[in-house]
Amino acid sequence: MKGKLITLEGIDGSGKSTICSRLRARPELGDFLFTREPTTDWIGEAVERAIHSDTDNLAELFLFTADHAEHIAKVIRPALESGRNVISDRYSDSRYAYQGMTLCDKFEDPMEWIQNIHRDWTIVPNLTILFDIEPEIAVYRCGKRSEQTKFEKIEFLEGVCANYLRLAEQEPERFIIVNTDRAIEKIEADVIKIITSLF
Ligand code: ADP
Repeated sequence: MKGKLITLEGIDGSGKSTICSRLRARPELGDFLFTREPTTDWIGEAVERAIHSDTDNLAELFLFTADHAEHIAKVIRPALESGRNVISDRYSDSRYAYQGMTLCDKFEDPMEWIQNIHRDWTIVPNLTILFDIEPEIAVYRCGKRSEQTKFEKIEFLEGVCANYLRLAEQEPERFIIVNTDRAIEKIEADVIKIITSLF
């Protein structure tokens, strides 16, 4: 693949979209295609419906996974093949970390199970920046946005954070962990340094 894929991961309120919009405002960084998961396409909308309703957790996983497949087929792969670099706000690791929690009663090692169903067709990112933050701080930052879904309860988020750290341990060469309990300018400077060093 000619282009490079960079993904931003971390729980809601860790600052991913704030950093994305700051990166967008810096064309000197290069010609990046900015995208996100869940997408805003119709499967992404179905994912949003699932998240905000009492949908079965396995059904929800497959909707997320369908959205990921469509996203790769229509957006990510064509961009990378044409030589464009891509930055995605959330990607496959969100599935491993979050659905690894929602499905913990269903499978012995849900995260591994979910990774397995992605194997051989997902595009593994060249770099994943993990925005590390205490769940309490992230939920506080989200304010009114918090407590809306099952994904925003502290205990659940602690499990998600642990899953993210396990993923980072599995692939230390792909992950870079950034502490986001700091001033946004400092985080932005670190992220720019990390992205620049990839090229
Ligand atoms: P995410 O995309 O990871 O859910 P956001 O970028 O939407 O996170 O940030 C959630 C909220 O926290 C926003 O109101 C944002 O302004 C605020 N925020 C983000 N980063 C910081 C930071 N480093 N310090 C303080 N507040 C922040």
